[in-house]
Amino acid sequence: MSALAEAFRRHWPEYLMEAAGLAAFMISACFFAVLLEHPASPVHGVVANPAARRALGGLAMGLTAVAIIYSPWGRQSGAHLNPGVTLGFLRLGWIPRADAAFYAAFQVAGAIAGVLLAWAALGARLSHPATRFAVTMPGTAGPSAALAAEAAISFVLMTAVLHVSGSRYARWTGVVAGALVALYIAVEAPLSGMSMNPARSFASALVAGDWTALWIYFLAPPLGMLLAATVYARRRSGGCAKLVHAADKRCIFCEERARRPGTASPRRIVILGGGFGGIFTARRLQQLLAGKGDYEIVLVSKENYFVFQPMLPEVISGTIGLTDLVSPIRQLVPGAEIHVRDVESIDPERRTVTTAPGFLPHAHTLPYDHLVLALGTVTDFRGLRGLPEHALPFKNLQDALDLRNHVIRALEEAAIEEHDARLRKQLLTFVVAGGGFSGVEVVAELNDFVRRVARSYPQIDPAEIRVVLVHSQGRILPEVGEKLGLFAQRILRERGVELLLDARLSAASGEEAILGDGMRIGTRTLVSTVPSFPHPVIDAVKLPKARGGRIQVTPELEVPGFPGVWALGDCASIPTPDGGSSPPTAQHATRQAALVAENVVASIRGGRRRAFDFKGLGKMGSLGSRSAVAEIFGLQISGALAWFLWRTIYLMKLPGLGRRLKIAASWTFDLLLPPDSVLFRFSAPSSMLREHFEPGQEVFHQGDLGDRIYSIVAGAADVVHEASGRETILARLGPGDLFGEMALLDQTVRSATIRCAEPMDVWSLPKRELALLSQGMPEVRRSLERLRDQRTKKAS
Ligand SMILES: Cc1cc2nc3c(=O)[nH]c(=O)nc-3n(C[C@H](O)[C@H](O)[C@H](O)COP(=O)(O)OP(=O)(O)OC[C@H]3O[C@@H](n4cnc5c(N)ncnc54)[C@H](O)[C@@H]3O)c2cc1C
Repeated sequence: MSALAEAFRRHWPEYLMEAAGLAAFMISACFFAVLLEHPASPVHGVVANPAARRALGGLAMGLTAVAIIYSPWGRQSGAHLNPGVTLGFLRLGWIPRADAAFYAAFQVAGAIAGVLLAWAALGARLSHPATRFAVTMPGTAGPSAALAAEAAISFVLMTAVLHVSGSRYARWTGVVAGALVALYIAVEAPLSGMSMNPARSFASALVAGDWTALWIYFLAPPLGMLLAATVYARRRSGGCAKLVHAADKRCIFCEERARRPGTASPRRIVILGGGFGGIFTARRLQQLLAGKGDYEIVLVSKENYFVFQPMLPEVISGTIGLTDLVSPIRQLVPGAEIHVRDVESIDPERRTVTTAPGFLPHAHTLPYDHLVLALGTVTDFRGLRGLPEHALPFKNLQDALDLRNHVIRALEEAAIEEHDARLRKQLLTFVVAGGGFSGVEVVAELNDFVRRVARSYPQIDPAEIRVVLVHSQGRILPEVGEKLGLFAQRILRERGVELLLDARLSAASGEEAILGDGMRIGTRTLVSTVPSFPHPVIDAVKLPKARGGRIQVTPELEVPGFPGVWALGDCASIPTPDGGSSPPTAQHATRQAALVAENVVASIRGGRRRAFDFKGLGKMGSLGSRSAVAEIFGLQISGALAWFLWRTIYLMKLPGLGRRLKIAASWTFDLLLPPDSVLFRFSAPSSMLREHFEPGQEVFHQGDLGDRIYSIVAGAADVVHEASGRETILARLGPGDLFGEMALLDQTVRSATIRCAEPMDVWSLPKRELALLSQGMPEVRRSLERLRDQRTKKAS
């Protein structure tokens, strides 16, 4: 098949979209020509000044161009809408010749169809001498001036399109193009009639039967645009022939590049973590690599949303709606490939990342060229007696929601607890451990919420409520100066928070928080914001670590000895020029993210890599109820002004205008309305699964990851082993038989396939639960080991 036929077969929808785009543009041009220039038009009568009418016409056509460029079809075809633009992209090698030929042909056809359709609708009004099918003609300054002006405006437009689409502002390319069209019509039209487009001028000339000076519009726009492309090619390379490179639309140009013989598939930057570090790295990388198509960005996060953690404590009181605080990652980084999976392991030698199985128990391995680690830290109570079972962590959205629900439940229970005074006291005592920023913000929000919401429980006397903050040092908020720390202590005490300083939480039971000095506080609500540990995946990966288990990186944020592996945020130890290390805060993580992205691009494209040198702008912490503390550029601020600053600054930092508006509205309503005490009851997902299989269906396949153990309740299955392409049935299993234990016990992959032979019901238990069960009941493990040994013996 010839290249032309092959291109047409695969890309005809895009050609039609281009034709439709230019048809729409010409219909709009004809309509506005009649509206503004026809003597019988009321607008023409009202707006007598020709310059004002041109300005209106410019605005209308600029908006038309923007609407077409950002329309679904415009975003798919790339919205060249002009053979000159297509020629510019051809010069840069971003569009294959066959596609360029069809784009130009369909643009011409679309333009003609547009003028004809407009004529059918507007009739004689369009053929009137004042409108003349919106033909473009040189002005009074003559053809030479028109030629020069057309070439100049075309050069500027193409230059703007190329530079903006290749920059961090790529998504504004359409707006810039539309604004230039508007400006040109308003200002330049008296010189050349403002065409910039051979297809557009040809269509009007053809239907009008007037070929005057058409050569100018055939020559000048392509020349100006070709020149712009040539100048651009001298300084930069790579890019995509689309005005707006939409992630949700197919791109025939990127597809074509990948198909070209000898062209390797795009190289891959894998980012682990969807928090401040991960999201801001991906966003900056997208800006820097903007649609060049040679690198793809893959972001792996266990949640499909980004949480703005500084505002997390406000979820406890419900001041902020749950979904207002989170943003879908797909919206934040539309061009990246998102994997909503748990990262299981990283192999820096093989340069791969393994993620947890999804619906099917297959290992998912992601090879990478560059790896960015931003997995944050975890609150880990291991080694602290009773804390893993009874303390509530406060790190992510689920923790905040759990705490809110737990507190409301405690109030509901306390309200009807009449018989057991001890239990009632425990239910109304709330303990938070950790007097750093997170702990203080949590206790302040919790205290405000409990005391406000308790007013709707007539059975609860406010004096019964006890809120306690336990902190291991002599004063809270060690992150800020003494004055602010003492201010925070005073405010919290005035609001009824009991401060236990120089006290350390050492253990817990379901009824008590136990301190290091033996003091016991009866409570059913214990929150701990400490201790924070490196993520288990970070703990396990064989990369250089600093004290505390964080990944050691160079000042450029690369892991020494592992080129192409980068780490940032809370999981990394980042040296600062003063010999210290960068603190684990969001403001540092976002700056590190921008730097990692720039350094990754510098390693790929060549360029200077920079060292991280950000000292921080300040520190802020909310104390709830219109009070806060802030240390900004060395200035210490407290009280209402600090609170106002806190809210304003964090609101501005929140990604997305929509979210900002929602939160501003929530804050406003919160000033007027009573707090919400809705108790959500989510049923915990059962880890034990019951499943049904039909004959021929596989429960798992040989080579899959061993993630669950199964038992047959009813029906039968075959154990099938495959070797050298041949299948052997090793055994038939029936009711009461267990399977899947081998891969779990030996931490290997499945050694055989289990295929349903008769309609079968099974239950299964995940690996983690099985490990817990065998820890508590060693006999379970022993009997599974016996079963495995018997089966291995039989098989051999
Ligand atoms: C309650 C609270 C309040 C805070 N307030 C402030 C503040 O006011 N100002 C400030 O500057 N800083 C504040 N911080 C600190 C700030 O949020 C952190 O420093 C920042 O989030 C660190 O960014 P990160 O990307 O390193 O980690 P995180 O933002 O924690 O991101 C880690 C990401 O990794 C993902 N992840 C974890 N495990 C896996 C896995 N196995 N597989 C896939 N994905 C995984 C998580 O889902 C998450 O998206 C606060 C922190 C908390 C907890």
